[in-house]
Amino acid sequence: MSAEESKAGHFIAAIIDEDRREGKHGGNVVTRFPPEPNGYLHIGHAKSICLNFGIAESYNGECTLRFDDTNPAKESQEYIDAIKEDVSWLGYEWAGPVRYASDYFERLYEYAIELIEQGKAYVCSLPATEAAEYRGSLTRPGRNSPYRDRTVAENLDLFKRMRAGEFAEGKHALRARIDMAAPNMNLRDPILYRIRYQTHHQTGDNWCIYPMYDFTHPLSDAAEGVTHSLCTLEFEDHRPLYDWVLDNVTPPCRPRQIEFARLNLNYTITSKRKLLRLVDEGYVDGWNDPRMPTISGLRRRGVTPAAIRDFCEMVGINKVGGIVDMGMLEHAIRDDLNQHAPRAMCVMDPIKVVLVNYPEGDSQQLTLPVHPQDPEQGTREVTWSRELYIDREDFAEVPPGKWKRLAPNSAVRLRGGYVMTCVDVIKNAKGDVVELHCEYDPETLGVNPTGYKPKGVLHWVAADTAVDVEVRLYDRMFNSENPDGDKNVDFIEHLNPESLRILTGCKAEPSLVQPRADMAYQFEREGYFFYDKEATETQGLPVFNRTVTLRDSWSKISQKN
Ligand code: ATP
Ligand code: MG
Repeated sequence: MSAEESKAGHFIAAIIDEDRREGKHGGNVVTRFPPEPNGYLHIGHAKSICLNFGIAESYNGECTLRFDDTNPAKESQEYIDAIKEDVSWLGYEWAGPVRYASDYFERLYEYAIELIEQGKAYVCSLPATEAAEYRGSLTRPGRNSPYRDRTVAENLDLFKRMRAGEFAEGKHALRARIDMAAPNMNLRDPILYRIRYQTHHQTGDNWCIYPMYDFTHPLSDAAEGVTHSLCTLEFEDHRPLYDWVLDNVTPPCRPRQIEFARLNLNYTITSKRKLLRLVDEGYVDGWNDPRMPTISGLRRRGVTPAAIRDFCEMVGINKVGGIVDMGMLEHAIRDDLNQHAPRAMCVMDPIKVVLVNYPEGDSQQLTLPVHPQDPEQGTREVTWSRELYIDREDFAEVPPGKWKRLAPNSAVRLRGGYVMTCVDVIKNAKGDVVELHCEYDPETLGVNPTGYKPKGVLHWVAADTAVDVEVRLYDRMFNSENPDGDKNVDFIEHLNPESLRILTGCKAEPSLVQPRADMAYQFEREGYFFYDKEATETQGLPVFNRTVTLRDSWSKISQKN
């Protein structure tokens, strides 16, 4: 979507504009976000959250948060709490109290009675296997159930007894009486209620019949005064049923369902059921593992709410599905962090440098900006002393062409410090480089030297004030661009065994002894890293998760300057 189109709004905004021009709902706009509490929210849900809450904001309307809790077997309070936390964290406020479809169970039951009384619903006693056969297929019309013509009185009696718990699961179901020959299978007398002896997280054991989604959803929307019910494209074929339900009872409001394309990201799974498998089978460290595409995983990784909202804005809203490139999400993350992330230095693979012309036991404090473009973030202090660490990768004994880092007899600048020249390379018995001897130039703090030219700028830390930290590098979780693409291959087969690399023995500047937990840092020349409180507690030293590299790692550009 071009910037111009996005300013003008997407097709859903155009529909709402038209409805308002026609004076529908008195011009009010009410939306809802209706998660099923059977897992944690993921990046796909963020698209729906941003859309629903965003629409409400831009029309001065309201958006409710409603748990679609009609399937108690798979739902739990843990998921409810996590979903509320994630929506709030994304920066949205729902209108009024949190709602539950189960709040409306009594009302739904009355609507069901209303349908039965009109002869528009009946109790069907076909066993599940036979019911499937009666339903027909896409190429074969269905057949009427032998129970379709039960009298209203008989249906009312049976339905009330279903509620009273007189029958076993599967013995009866309440079905809408629509059309068994309808080309749209959803209209072939769909089930409205089934018997389930299942304790519900909200209603306990009050109910042993539970309404189906297609019956519950339109009526819950109506109960909340929802004007526009926005859902993903797989519900397009359910819209005639959504409308049928509302048209055949007397709801307080007549919402309109509009479908948009789901968000799919390459190298990523966005299905709660499959993400649950990763958690249950121990492939990840819980729902908030930093590799997970869940909101809580992204948060633990250091992604900000602003970046997620920007990303959803960039993706836009349309009718045609597609797979969005992970690079786009990373771009949004980088863009936001670059503007706000405090800077720090951390050496991932340290090699010692001894400044042979710096007095032993001496040291000095250097003052560096926390953010080079944002003076309001203030300054930080780093120590300069005789022994420093730089990254092993930043030294080459025999430098390749165009080498901009340290090499024997060549000079580099240390970020925020002095220029130094390598004068000696110390090796162990095996011939590995173990230490570098350098001479620093005391005339070069903040000014360029005369007479010679340093090659590049390196990050570094002073050895005696360095903080030991652990760094966790994350790579894509799956090796396949579309891990779910081949129905004959379990998506688990595509897991990337190298999606997590743990670096121990990293050395960070002293400002990281008590790191901020509200914002990722930019570790200079390395990327963005977020303090992981949870892992720090178990590891006993500060742990940082790499949020994202400095440049697009998806298109194989070198990550170093
Ligand atoms: P999942 O397949 O992950 O279980 P779902 O659609 O069953 O997803 P719900 O809890 O029912 O999950 O989703 C709540 C809302 O979020 C729904 O309106 C749904 O359409 C929307 N949603 C879910 N996944 C996506 C996605 N990938 N892109 C956009 N919206 C989504
Ligand atoms: Mg669902």
